[in-house]
Amino acid sequence: MNSTRNIVIVGGGFAGTTLARTLEDRLPDSHRVVLVSEESYTTFNPMLAEVVGASVFPEHVVAPIRQMLARSRFVMARVTEVDFARRTLSAATLAGPQTIHYEHLVFAFGTRANLALVPGLAEHALPLKLVGDALFIRNRVLQRIARIELESDPALRRCLGRFVVIGGGFSGVEVAGELADFLRSARRYYPRVQAAELQVTLLHDADRLLFELPASLGAAAAASLRGRGVDVRLLSRARCVDADAVTLENGERIATGTVICTIGSKPNPLVERLDLPLQRGRITTAPDMSVPAAEGVWAIGDCALIRNHAGDLHRPAQAGPAMPVSYAPPTAQFAVAEAHALAHNLVARITAQPTRPFAHVSRGMMATTGHLKGVAQVGGLRLSGLPAWLLWRAYYLLLMPTLGRKVRIWLEWTWGMFFAADITHLRFTRTHEADAPTPSPALVIPLPSAALPPSQP
Ligand SMILES: Cc1cc2nc3c(=O)[nH]c(=O)nc-3n(C[C@H](O)[C@H](O)[C@H](O)COP(=O)(O)OP(=O)(O)OC[C@H]3O[C@@H](n4cnc5c(N)ncnc54)[C@H](O)[C@@H]3O)c2cc1C
Repeated sequence: MNSTRNIVIVGGGFAGTTLARTLEDRLPDSHRVVLVSEESYTTFNPMLAEVVGASVFPEHVVAPIRQMLARSRFVMARVTEVDFARRTLSAATLAGPQTIHYEHLVFAFGTRANLALVPGLAEHALPLKLVGDALFIRNRVLQRIARIELESDPALRRCLGRFVVIGGGFSGVEVAGELADFLRSARRYYPRVQAAELQVTLLHDADRLLFELPASLGAAAAASLRGRGVDVRLLSRARCVDADAVTLENGERIATGTVICTIGSKPNPLVERLDLPLQRGRITTAPDMSVPAAEGVWAIGDCALIRNHAGDLHRPAQAGPAMPVSYAPPTAQFAVAEAHALAHNLVARITAQPTRPFAHVSRGMMATTGHLKGVAQVGGLRLSGLPAWLLWRAYYLLLMPTLGRKVRIWLEWTWGMFFAADITHLRFTRTHEADAPTPSPALVIPLPSAALPPSQP
């Protein structure tokens, strides 16, 4: 791997894989793409809520990177250090540490979930950032319902049946809607659990949901969720979380055994070791997405702070510097747009042509609020209900790589419209654990605390 003509991309998410695929068709033969990512797959994060709600299997919201690439080299590894002077990076691979040389290096390694925003979040809340998180939450929900069946204390049953989602952004709204539908569908298989014992609460600290969308669509999302029985609480900020409750800023204590956290992100730990200029935890880039502090280095996706020059096209000449500068938001749509723009700039740099500043006009935004319901803004068009939900599904189906995957998801979605949600709780018990004297740790739930009365068997 000692080539000096490598374009090395770190991170196999939306940004990294789109860039690799786009470059494959455009690079001169003198160069090749090496994509380094710690997982062997790309996760379609916008579909994670569907895994929580059992609308799709976890395997179907990921796409194997090797199947997405035709000519590029893929290395499954975690990048640990970069030596900008020698133009090398160190990667922890399955075969031990390896050094990879680069001519151009692209950072596209995203961000991590931030569980330090509220005291107790790290210990007691379940983040939703990875496919493993989504599967864990789904299993936890099923454990909770199964345990309610076995408990007789009404307070404990209510606590176990209350699911609190923190954050009224896209993922919070989508998880709350999916969860409400999943609970309703699953309950019929748990005859000792009453509908009133299962409740989803969505906490949001602003006065409306989905701040990125017009106020009318935020209101439509809240109405849609409330129509499904979700307890939507606006202007409600969590002060602390513990094993059996969320305490709000106003002092109210909501007894709950499951808190799902969809707020906050923090820089990837790699960022701290790179010693590059950061703003708001993201790598500062020049207009063409190069990193001014390091020769041959570029950054895109959630880990980069990239100015969006689309607004400049319509900016009045006399506006001056007082006009607010707009930055690309950390969304899948912008990660993909940045990747396309960077592919152009990399080829331009290699062929000694001028690069272009990043400019992208948003095509719109959308969110689901549960089965058959959603909200969307596409250009000047505002949609809610079934049309928005269909549009959401069509868009993500189009984004899915390979025809085989598209067909599988489409079949699964169609199946889900006619049959009940899958309530299988996979325990991953292995043969040598099957006869262990104590139950699997996955079945032992840290509840209730001393605050709750003991339950009858
Ligand atoms: C639950 C959820 C729901 C979302 N819903 C939406 C939505 O509805 N619409 C929307 O537009 N956006 C949504 N987003 C945001 C969107 O997913 C991100 O903006 C997008 O994934 C960013 O792409 P990326 O390639 O920059 O980063 P990521 O997709 O996070 O990919 C980063 C990659 O880098 C790899 N990596 C990290 N560190 C290293 C390392 N040291 N070495 C090697 N590899 C590394 C990771 O394994 C990962 O593959 C959602 C996000 C989440 C978490």
